[in-house]
Amino acid sequence: MAQLIDGKKISQEIKDELKEKVAELKEQGIEGALAVIQVGNDPASSVYVRNKKRACEYIGIRSESYELPEETTEDELLTLIETLNEDPKINGILCQLPVPVHMDENKIIRTIAPEKDVDGFHTQNVGALVVGQTGFVSCTPAGVIQLLKRSGIEIAGKHCVVVGRSNIVGKPMALLMLQENATVTICHSRTADLQSMCRQADILIVAVGKPKMITAEYVKEGATVIDVGIHRQENGKLCGDVDFEQVAPIAGAITPVPGGVGPMTIAMLMNNCVEAMTR
Ligand code: NDP
Repeated sequence: MAQLIDGKKISQEIKDELKEKVAELKEQGIEGALAVIQVGNDPASSVYVRNKKRACEYIGIRSESYELPEETTEDELLTLIETLNEDPKINGILCQLPVPVHMDENKIIRTIAPEKDVDGFHTQNVGALVVGQTGFVSCTPAGVIQLLKRSGIEIAGKHCVVVGRSNIVGKPMALLMLQENATVTICHSRTADLQSMCRQADILIVAVGKPKMITAEYVKEGATVIDVGIHRQENGKLCGDVDFEQVAPIAGAITPVPGGVGPMTIAMLMNNCVEAMTR
């Protein structure tokens, strides 16, 4: 049976380390604050926002909530972001996505000052990642790197296959693995023979958004399997993009869902907030 990569435990370790760092910064007179904007009241977004605020409280930084009604205009939202950009007491700004359809998501991301973009979505931060410069990195892929490193899984020289090429997960994930000296293959919906590609992976990272799509046939014996997907099944239980029951007996190490990648995203968001305080 595979080594279980425990995201709950590792994310807790990270939050505890950050809590200590925040206390030290406070002693130097440096306080942190994250502005969290939510437009409309999508229930899933509300849960994410609540968890982010809770994490801020845990590590000891202030969170400022901006709950805007669904009818808010794009201009009103952009004006709020610009005000927060100028506010010296705010280190980080986060606008919970998705925003209502009458708003241009890219424009909103572009308006957040790159030095306060703790989600790491601004093109300046994405560009910094591409050329290997300092910037904020998208939280979920950054969390995967921490999961691997803190579980003692060697990355350098390994063949990593990333399934999915979204801007927030797949692409930054591939770039981070490259930065860690893995040999990286990126797969997507137009990849011919996905199964044989995946079977070549020493480290298989899956972010396709399809419940239990990755079955035993996709996995090489002893491979490390990281499952980014999260889905609520009809029976109310959560599952990932990987069929855990089938894959766990073959894999060398695997993340469960829940309790794998999920908790890491917020821990890495907190990490970015603390970085924003120290910069
Ligand atoms: P997107 O829908 O934006 O991207 C999915 C990617 O998978 C696309 O690049 C798509 O290819 C590819 N894909 C879809 N179907 C197939 C297929 N049959 N074969 C090969 N590739 C395929 O999703 P996200 O990247 O935003 O998220 C992926 C998953 O991760 C979701 O389940 C999401 O809920 C979860 N997630 C979890 C987070 C966490 O904190 N744990 C955070 C963010 C996401 P193409 O580009 O060709 O369309």
